[in-house]
Amino acid sequence: MSNFDGQAGFLEITKNIEVAEFLKSCQFMHEPNDNELEKIKSYFNDLHINESEIYPNNIIAIASDHYEAKVRDDIPFTNVGYIKVSNFLLRKNRITSLENRRFLDPFEVARLQKEKEAYTFILPSSNMLYKDEKTVTDSFRLRLYEMLKSYKTDEANEETSLLATLFYLNSLKNGENPNIITLSRCPSCKAKNVKVFNVNEKQFCKECHCILYPSDVLRLWEEINEDSASNISPLTRFDNFIKHLLLAHNIRMIKLLNSENYRTILSDSIFVINGSLAIYGTPASFYSSMQKFIYDINKDLEDHGFNRLMIIGIVESSSVLSYANFLNKHLLNSTICCVSDEFRAKYIDYHKIESGTTFGNETFYGQDFIYKNSKGKIKVFQIPYPYRDKSNLQVFKNEKSNIKNYKDLDRYIKFLDDFDSDMFSNSIIPAVLSKKYSIINMQPGSDVLNLISKNLLGKI
Ligand SMILES: [Zn+2]
Repeated sequence: MSNFDGQAGFLEITKNIEVAEFLKSCQFMHEPNDNELEKIKSYFNDLHINESEIYPNNIIAIASDHYEAKVRDDIPFTNVGYIKVSNFLLRKNRITSLENRRFLDPFEVARLQKEKEAYTFILPSSNMLYKDEKTVTDSFRLRLYEMLKSYKTDEANEETSLLATLFYLNSLKNGENPNIITLSRCPSCKAKNVKVFNVNEKQFCKECHCILYPSDVLRLWEEINEDSASNISPLTRFDNFIKHLLLAHNIRMIKLLNSENYRTILSDSIFVINGSLAIYGTPASFYSSMQKFIYDINKDLEDHGFNRLMIIGIVESSSVLSYANFLNKHLLNSTICCVSDEFRAKYIDYHKIESGTTFGNETFYGQDFIYKNSKGKIKVFQIPYPYRDKSNLQVFKNEKSNIKNYKDLDRYIKFLDDFDSDMFSNSIIPAVLSKKYSIINMQPGSDVLNLISKNLLGKI
């Protein structure tokens, strides 16, 4: 039997004696028994939110999407990559139904917010060369550099480019000069620790004389396969990374362009990221820059008597969310769990070797929470760790899941409750809208992108 498609085929296979015997000797996620249920519930705290909790007025939602499109139907293995990132601002005080406690209509919210922008990165993906480059990898590297450099908040100011934000974030990793990036390896000769500078002139490797770009630090080039029919992997990585880069960029721009009153603006802002507060794959080390950057901003706000900046990742797909939905019927309304490594290892991820490190050690800058609201709906969200780094691993591992360390939790919950909608179970309105604006139309709409690609290349 080779047909695993569909539920019926799957149920059929689990009835097979050999498979059933095999499953008996495996451990996996299961319906909890009474004893386990008591234990699981002990990880949840009751939540009583004061209705007068106040969260920021400026809600900035960020989402991204990616798509790989064929250049022409009759040309095989030749693709363009698109990554679209959207950014929109919603002002709480313009949504009257929030004050009247009426049903919050997502369409009303969508109509109200006019301050939105979307930016599309177009990259060579497979089997094509850009300008005079000789390989797909070099074409991708050049184009990525050009796009990060050309995205500017203020056209006349180089300091406002995404590339400038990349330099700044990189400097936070290990205190490097903000105008220098040390590449771990040269993309061509693999020479170690090669320096590139924040200058407009072309820069070359001292060993092999190939051209170097500061954006090589993201190491997306490592995942490009010259002969592959598709190069979706670096596109997926960049799709994940760009949301966090844009988050840092927005905060950096508010500070740079409003030196007089940036604290007032930041303390009255909440950023909503579609997805986890985590950076995966080759650019993962930038998670530590995000953690330090957010910590430093909050320290500055606190020291000057302002509210802390709020950042929340709305998780719409993860093992924690799947488990929480699975568990939902056993949980009480208005309860919350600050997910510890212990809870994760016991009930969600089945690997039994005690880890010497902590979950998400090299990727996450936010803590997972499972929240069941008063209407019985599950939300899994992340908020930034209240620590600058993870250097004291043992302390960090214990303290990151101590709910008392998250001083703004009540404000986050009030925000989640206000923007809940009967139309979605696990998400909230700003996250759903930002996803909508970032979406690159899939079939049949994706034909439009295929058409654009062909137009750009002058093929039709
Ligand atoms: Zn080299």
